Amino acid sequence: MSTPENALSVATTEIEFRKALDAVYENIAAAAERAGRNPADIRLLPVSKTVAEERMRAAFAAGMTAFGENKVQEAQRKAEAMADLGAHWAIIGPLQSNKTRNVAEFAHQFQALDRIRIAGRLDQQLQEFNRTLEVFVQVNASGEETKSGIEPGEVEDFLEQLQAFKNLEVKGLMTMALHSDDEAVIRKCFTTLRDIRDDLSHRRPALIGDGELSMGMSNDYMLAIEEGATVVRVGSALFGERDYSN
Ligand SMILES: *Cc1c(COP(=O)(O)O)cnc(C)c1O
Repeated sequence: MSTPENALSVATTEIEFRKALDAVYENIAAAAERAGRNPADIRLLPVSKTVAEERMRAAFAAGMTAFGENKVQEAQRKAEAMADLGAHWAIIGPLQSNKTRNVAEFAHQFQALDRIRIAGRLDQQLQEFNRTLEVFVQVNASGEETKSGIEPGEVEDFLEQLQAFKNLEVKGLMTMALHSDDEAVIRKCFTTLRDIRDDLSHRRPALIGDGELSMGMSNDYMLAIEEGATVVRVGSALFGERDYSN
């Protein structure tokens, strides 16, 4: 597993971000090759939480046209400030019901859907704004009690209920692996998610959209790709360690 190189942690210019991006794409290609997969089937979602507008603009110029954010207010503020870019905004963190309207208003994608009530609110508010939203259902593939996400055994029922919501476009499943030094433990989270997808794609293809798998972050995206990820959410490997001080 790779950790972000120090040189990348200070990327501020378009050229520096190009280098950071190239390095991640090289890793993506290498992992895909190990798994006999086509690298073109894997999309990178740069995670820009805590990153300031100026650096994000340089990152955009370097080719990052979609951004993942885990806080709705931060994401909306940035989306408004950078509306001229026409970037794609993905909310990847938990969503409280008093924030669904904001998401319905500006976001293109929501990756952490795990409550039907939230789905219903989003759908209704999206109708008001005459918009649609791509969604990933977050699954607790690690078995940890504190993790968000629905249980593997409940995914099918959850997806069935989502069918009523016409302004939500189901793309697939998302998970966060356990924090662990044990590669086998991390891999297990990813294979669990893939097995659920494979089973549903086989038996209930209409429920699971494109059957996408959003899994893998800076320290485990190569493992995730080896296990079938179609979307990797990478923050610190592109932007450097996060600075929460301001
Ligand atoms: C912050 C975050 C990421 C990216 O984390 P890094 O380790 O910086 O790559 C990915 N997914 C979610 C849900 C996140 O909140």
